[in-house]
Amino acid sequence: MSELRTRAHRILTSRWLVKSVFFALFVWLTSRLLAFAAWARGEGPFVPRPEAVAGILPVGHFTSFFAWLKGGGWDTLLPAGLVIIIAALATSLLFKRGFCGWICPVGTLWEGAAAIGRRLLGGRNIRLPRWLDIAGRGFRYVLGFGFFAFVGMVSVPEAVGFRELPYMWVADIKIIEGFGQPIFLIVILFAFVLSMLLGPVWCRYACPIGALYSAVGLASPCAVKRDEETCIDCGKCTRACHAFVDVQHAATVHAAECDGCMDCVKVCPVEGALEARAFGRVRIAPWVWPLLVVGVWFAIYLVAKLTGNWDTTIPVDVFRQVIGSGLLEQTTPMF
Ligand code: SF4
Ligand code: SF4
Repeated sequence: MSELRTRAHRILTSRWLVKSVFFALFVWLTSRLLAFAAWARGEGPFVPRPEAVAGILPVGHFTSFFAWLKGGGWDTLLPAGLVIIIAALATSLLFKRGFCGWICPVGTLWEGAAAIGRRLLGGRNIRLPRWLDIAGRGFRYVLGFGFFAFVGMVSVPEAVGFRELPYMWVADIKIIEGFGQPIFLIVILFAFVLSMLLGPVWCRYACPIGALYSAVGLASPCAVKRDEETCIDCGKCTRACHAFVDVQHAATVHAAECDGCMDCVKVCPVEGALEARAFGRVRIAPWVWPLLVVGVWFAIYLVAKLTGNWDTTIPVDVFRQVIGSGLLEQTTPMF
């Protein structure tokens, strides 16, 4: 019975299951948004607008987020974007980039490519020379700094004016429709092949938002700890780490690249030698970790939903007017 329960825990909290569910949810939500746009154009039945797709507009919503921090007020027009940012920051702060490790659908796509590549390449993605890897990781922080300096410097009146632009309300539709363009498909295919060879290059070397979550994750009270007394130096943990962290030689994994995937803990053959701990003391079982990440995520969503801080206050007829006006067809994609 206990073995059955352990197996059930393993399946329910397996990283690929959790990530696949979020990925499928994201794909389903984007299809709902396209169906909503079709309704607004008079081409289909009414479908409620899915607010959670707000995550694909980082420039707009981070601008709004910083304006809120600076006293510019909560975005009541498209509040889901702010809620998603707060939830991603909270999961990253509490659980070492938990958002990247367990939730982000973009990361899931590249990690899926990397996993396929590992199978084809005999177990491991190609590792770049150390100097190039360090330069690439540094580049991500430079990009992140540039991105957040840019959105953080937008003045409050400008940010508030930006989120009141009708284009901003429908930019998510523009972006998703843009993904079907040949140029996007070529870029995605290129990144997919690169990820198959080198691992998730976007997440490791280019994602500016991931750079923020990595930096925030450094302050996490939870981390993987290795007991040097019981460790038998088998090296399985280091080999299992998709983020190339040398777990075998760390007392506590502080690496900014660690996304709390728990793969290293799961493969450790010695009980108690490698564990996730909160504040260095409280053990967190590998199957409990994702429940906490997902639990915090949904708790924040639920609070926002129940307090009226999730759904847009823009009436559907206004969306219909904006989309029907041809605004989407006249502008270029902007994130
Ligand atoms: S395998 Fe361990 S060290 Fe590597 S990312 Fe996952 S939790 Fe962090
Ligand atoms: S897998 Fe466990 S026993 Fe092996 S090196 Fe890592 S911590 Fe030590």
